[in-house]
Amino acid sequence: MAWHSEMQIASRQFQCGFCGNKVATDKGFFNKDGKYIVYLCPHCQKPTFFDERANQTPGIAPGKDVGHLPPELEAIYNEARRCVSVCAYTAAVLACRKLLMHVAVQQKAEAGKTFIHYVEFLADNGYVPPNGKGWVDHIRKKGNEATHEIVLMKIEDAVELISFSEMLLKFIYEFPASVPIIQN
Ligand SMILES: [Zn+2]
Repeated sequence: MAWHSEMQIASRQFQCGFCGNKVATDKGFFNKDGKYIVYLCPHCQKPTFFDERANQTPGIAPGKDVGHLPPELEAIYNEARRCVSVCAYTAAVLACRKLLMHVAVQQKAEAGKTFIHYVEFLADNGYVPPNGKGWVDHIRKKGNEATHEIVLMKIEDAVELISFSEMLLKFIYEFPASVPIIQN
């Protein structure tokens, strides 16, 4: 696929928010005063926009794909990751909390509890590795706002919670499914 009238412009390296590849290209478009630039990914051909401060849209979704997830968990995990790529950090955190609560209930936690309750449930039941307890304390500190409060989240909060979720999902769904079958 090629774009109509694509131009040769100053080369730039970036990570494509669509395909995730680190790319370098000099193909794209710019506006009249050169403040806004669109680069075309040489891998997937999709356009990435840069403003005058080099802010990138779409940004990069943090975290890695996790295999063997139930479809609804995969959808919400990827939705949380994509939220970060469009600067929707609070939405990303809320999606991760929903995800972790769902995972805990699937692992037989009692329904209708708080997010922190579920994080502690996962830790107490061996789903968090022994050296990952610091994570649990950190998430408890971050996530214990009262239900009537809206606490806006920063990018670090969202990225941290996504990597915690990635670790748990790999541990609970991906690794057990990739155990080699032992032949007797
Ligand atoms: Zn791409």
